[in-house]
Amino acid sequence: MAGNNSGGGSYPLDDHVKSVARDLQHRFAQMSNRDQKFDLHVIPDLLSQPVVPEPPAQDDKEAQNFEKYLIAMSHIPLNYENPGLLDEALQQIPLDRLSQEAEEEVELFQAKAASLGRSKPEWSHQECMVRALLRWFRRSFFTFVNNPPCSECLSPTNKIRNVAPTPEERAHSATWVELYACVTCGAYERFPRYTEAWQLLRVKRGRAGDFANVFTMLCRALDIRARWVWCQEDYLWTEIYSEHQQRWVHVDSCEEAWDMPHMYYKNWGKKMFYVIAFSREGAVDVTRRYVGSPDALLPRTRCPEGVLKFIMEEITNLHRPKYAPDGETRLRLYREDVAEDVQLRSLWSATLEQSRRLKAAAAAAARGGRSSPDNKSGANMMGSPATGDVKRPIPEDAPVPDVPSLWPTYGP
Ligand SMILES: [Zn+2]
Repeated sequence: MAGNNSGGGSYPLDDHVKSVARDLQHRFAQMSNRDQKFDLHVIPDLLSQPVVPEPPAQDDKEAQNFEKYLIAMSHIPLNYENPGLLDEALQQIPLDRLSQEAEEEVELFQAKAASLGRSKPEWSHQECMVRALLRWFRRSFFTFVNNPPCSECLSPTNKIRNVAPTPEERAHSATWVELYACVTCGAYERFPRYTEAWQLLRVKRGRAGDFANVFTMLCRALDIRARWVWCQEDYLWTEIYSEHQQRWVHVDSCEEAWDMPHMYYKNWGKKMFYVIAFSREGAVDVTRRYVGSPDALLPRTRCPEGVLKFIMEEITNLHRPKYAPDGETRLRLYREDVAEDVQLRSLWSATLEQSRRLKAAAAAAARGGRSSPDNKSGANMMGSPATGDVKRPIPEDAPVPDVPSLWPTYGP
């Protein structure tokens, strides 16, 4: 976009949207200090609006460090693009079996669609192939390890401490080693923490981050567009692009979960502030897909929203040209970016709207429970106080007044 340093391939905000975004940023800039800028009451509303990218301010060290950190992270999924590694990964996958399973599942989806009178099934062969891969990967290929069992006698072990890797372990990408002792025979058990997917593919065991690392790589081995999704709160998963549904689909290989983006906040009570999807096509802030309620959004204080947008575009411009060298592919990806941006913002608008409705209903219910005299007067249901009525204090659980009533919402 002209006027900033993000180079080509930015979001094509039309003039009207740009002016709305500038107006928002102007208001933001008027807030004097950093704490005010990151006021939680403002951030959730901002997330439903288009944001103009801006580079980190020269005196904002925290934002600059976050930028460096995210750029470093963005290189991890590029490791999957090694043809030799993908070949090796492909050889581990029982392709015939998975393909047959996928075929059978597609038929089920087709039958279901036909019975509901729909013209197309929910999922196509491509997604059913990933679903089959997911089942095989979680159930029979990769093992979750908390404390590794003793390799001498298979008894449980207790952790002693972290130790440095041996040169050989280091050569295989271990950054540290967890040392365990067998409760039966006393033998030591080493659990090297490898970072490279190719090494994890050989040892076939690990924790949630290792699952996401290897599974995302296996999706790439099947030539499926896949993202390695990093959640700041120490958890990782995968997204694959569904050509059939024209959208990114959540896949958690550690939980064998398919298309359940709200499972973290709903089932686990997880609160999140940054969820970033990285791939060879760039980086996208996908937080709004996973945080299904403003109450589950932690304060996003590592940089202003415009700066995060700038960093995402910076990373995209850094990696994408190499993997999308032709104009046609770039145009297609660019259109997808725009569609996803609109989708995430409208998703978030709906999330805010639902939350407000729930809070208003709860507040109304609370008022109704306490103030039956008011409610007896049917003529005053629209809110004008009954003559002589004592002015009641505002209940503590009353909904926060809606700030953005004059901010338009852009939906599909
Ligand atoms: Zn033992």
